[in-house]
Amino acid sequence: MNARIPIQSLPASTTDASCADLPVLRERGQREVFCGLTGIVWLHRKMQDAFFLVVGSRTCAHLIQSAAGVMIFAEPRFATAIIDERDLAGLADVHEELDQVVQRLLARRPDIRVLFLVGSCPSEVIKLDLSRAAQRLSRLHQPRVKVLNYSGSGIETTFTEGEDACLAALVPEMPSRPAAEVDTPELLVVGSLADVVEDQFRRLFAAIGLPRVAFLPARQASTLPAVGPGTRMLLAQPFLAATAKALEDRGAVRIPAPYPLGVEGTLAWLLAAADAMGVDSAVVEAATAAPRQRATQALAAMRTRLAGQRIFFFPDSQLEVPLARFVSRELGMQLTEVGSPYLHRTHLAEELALLPAGTQLSEGQDVERQLDRCRAAAPDLVVCGLGLANPLEAEGYATKWSIELVFTPIQGFEQAADLAALFDRPLQRRQRLAA
Ligand code: SF4
Repeated sequence: MNARIPIQSLPASTTDASCADLPVLRERGQREVFCGLTGIVWLHRKMQDAFFLVVGSRTCAHLIQSAAGVMIFAEPRFATAIIDERDLAGLADVHEELDQVVQRLLARRPDIRVLFLVGSCPSEVIKLDLSRAAQRLSRLHQPRVKVLNYSGSGIETTFTEGEDACLAALVPEMPSRPAAEVDTPELLVVGSLADVVEDQFRRLFAAIGLPRVAFLPARQASTLPAVGPGTRMLLAQPFLAATAKALEDRGAVRIPAPYPLGVEGTLAWLLAAADAMGVDSAVVEAATAAPRQRATQALAAMRTRLAGQRIFFFPDSQLEVPLARFVSRELGMQLTEVGSPYLHRTHLAEELALLPAGTQLSEGQDVERQLDRCRAAAPDLVVCGLGLANPLEAEGYATKWSIELVFTPIQGFEQAADLAALFDRPLQRRQRLAA
């Protein structure tokens, strides 16, 4: 479900000109975004030995089931332990029921190595202490299964913050780097990437002389990479504030870089990693020449169609700033407003510096005001959540669901044209309808 959270005690909007000298409209009103449970949809595919047990309501179960689109006869790696009226009224011992659910689940699924208990709005409302439950269940089921917890509730998290909370929960479980190795830098790519994208990046890193690169999350949640002094952290996603902080607390150092979207972003991301690891930029330029050329050619056709089209980003996934940089610089689209639920000034510094002068940024949301601004701007394409897309389509706007930009492999040179096509298709469809 969409989390609709009015926060009336804060001022409706203020402006802040500190963000790489771009004006930022800050809003704290009703917002229309998915909750952090949505992250389970891509995380359960990525970590093949993990299971996500949402402790929530039937609504939470419906959200995950429909967002993941899993057929009922499949054995997915997620489920919902339903909190019912008896639990809400305090008539049942929820911890006892949870223990039994976990016991049955682990007996039926011997493939599970890491079990995430995922908090929701209902579990928060009844103040269910899932960290205590996770510790108790870990003790019960060790060494076979590690039980961890995080919150995906719509009260605490938006959409992609669920991944951040999940990865942050994994950080304390990562082994420490051996003392003898801390003087040797090691690259850690942080943020979930589709397997096909991860494989491409592994090949590119190997081609530039970095064959040992670790990824978080790894395909097996039970075999986590080591972290410590000497770890150079390269963020693959811009929404990982808590995870990055937890890794920094363990001694990792972040490599400042834009995100690997489009040809320009991917090259800058690889160059930043190479620089931090002592590899010459000429090596990167040479190793990436062929895929860059292919991607540039593929983008040229898209640019012909998309250049000059005006685009409006509603806040949803926190990918909005890197996407805006890509569509404006590589596709020639015009930015009307770039909204993000949260602008992490440090993690986005390199991206913000690449946005055109005068770009209107907004942080947070007051949905009715933002809809008014969108209508006034009359963009050709609106990127927004599912809850806004249908009404805007009915008003005659072409829309792109921001959730699709998270589910689809879009990072890297080979995916640059696919990413551009995601913006092109709704415009083509609307043109065909108009014709
Ligand atoms: S966690 Fe909250 S916002 Fe998300 S589906 Fe459950 S009730 Fe709805």
